Amino acid sequence: MNIAVHQLLMPGSPTFTVLHLSDIHIDFSYTPGSQTECTQPLCCREGEPAPGRAGAGFWGDLHSCDIPYWTAEKILQYAAALEKVDFIYYTGDLPPHNVWNQSRTQQLYSLNKINQLLAKTFPNKTFYSAVGNHEAAPCNLFPTPNVRSDNISWLYEVLAESWIKLGLPPNTRESIERGGFYTTVIRPGLRLISLNMNYCSAENFWLFINSTDPLGQLQWMIDWLQYAEDNGEKVHIIGHIAPKQCLASFSWNFNKIVNRYENTIAGQFYGHTHNDEIVINYDEVDLQRPISMGYITPSLTTFSYLNPGYRVYKMDGYYPGSSYWVLDHRTVIMNLTATNMYNQTIFMDEYVARDAYQMENLFPNDWHELIERLKNDIDGPLMGLVYQYYTKSYANGAQCDHNCRRGLLCDFISFRSEDPHSCDSIPN
Ligand SMILES: [Zn+2]
Repeated sequence: MNIAVHQLLMPGSPTFTVLHLSDIHIDFSYTPGSQTECTQPLCCREGEPAPGRAGAGFWGDLHSCDIPYWTAEKILQYAAALEKVDFIYYTGDLPPHNVWNQSRTQQLYSLNKINQLLAKTFPNKTFYSAVGNHEAAPCNLFPTPNVRSDNISWLYEVLAESWIKLGLPPNTRESIERGGFYTTVIRPGLRLISLNMNYCSAENFWLFINSTDPLGQLQWMIDWLQYAEDNGEKVHIIGHIAPKQCLASFSWNFNKIVNRYENTIAGQFYGHTHNDEIVINYDEVDLQRPISMGYITPSLTTFSYLNPGYRVYKMDGYYPGSSYWVLDHRTVIMNLTATNMYNQTIFMDEYVARDAYQMENLFPNDWHELIERLKNDIDGPLMGLVYQYYTKSYANGAQCDHNCRRGLLCDFISFRSEDPHSCDSIPN
């Protein structure tokens, strides 16, 4: 498979650029000067700071706090001005983390307000959206159609409307209104499949009634992957939660599907953890051969103890038959400490993947080789750098000891949840 890709990567072959925004989590009640350490899960909203303690920073705070509206606005304006992007992947989680005290009205307020900001900041750009776990009220709870006492159409109808306003073709409406997922062709020969991963998540308690492929989403995905294969299309999958964090049945079935369609799926893009992570899918028989790459793009929010950030992917392609692989990616962060100190937004290119990790390409095998290098030098500087980027440079490698590093590496290759052997290859 990689031979064919190399042939396509001749000098001068066309590329395109995708901005990925995830986990914006704007706190509309963010209050500069308020308590940064509080008894609730989300702080920086109210209360006087304890004597001798600083109050919440104007631009945000490196505690359990989400970002204020004006910070999100500046980050998006910076990206819109600087990045030459063709379109945008946008993988959910808009409301703040005041999960104990949310209503449908508040969730829809966040959704409408943030999507208006995006439309204003990126005029004429198409957003390919996916639904996060925080969009529901209460969060995480997405009833399936067999639940008679509750339904989620209040959310899906608004999502359909606002996603279409952000550029999706109107023919996606029916499937978004039905299940919060859809497919559409986004470039000649490139199909997007946007999944509603709330139907995979153990935090969605409705699934304990019946978790068997809710709304037939996985079967629907198989049908479209087969269609793509039959028609020579490549596919990008976007979703909020990476399958490795799903209920085991979903996660293992998902990996089976990726195995079957490894030549069609050109990339997977997720969010949810707020950290900068990867996940490599492996051949389910030999467990050695890397077959697909999932990228977990870091969050805009600071929640918790993270700098705000976004990701830009450079991809191969633009015509039918292109590989549509990720060729490289660059992560941009806002240095929140400096921003608060100088009261001026300070951004930096945190790193560019191929350069920082000394990789020839970003194909699954290249990431596999990086993992091998890291395994052989777990306590070395490169693994320290991986941890630093994992926290969007809030922390550095010295703050992640041997066990922490092992855990991180293990996570990167755990493509199926609850697999007791997924970390066997990582030395003690
Ligand atoms: Zn989130």
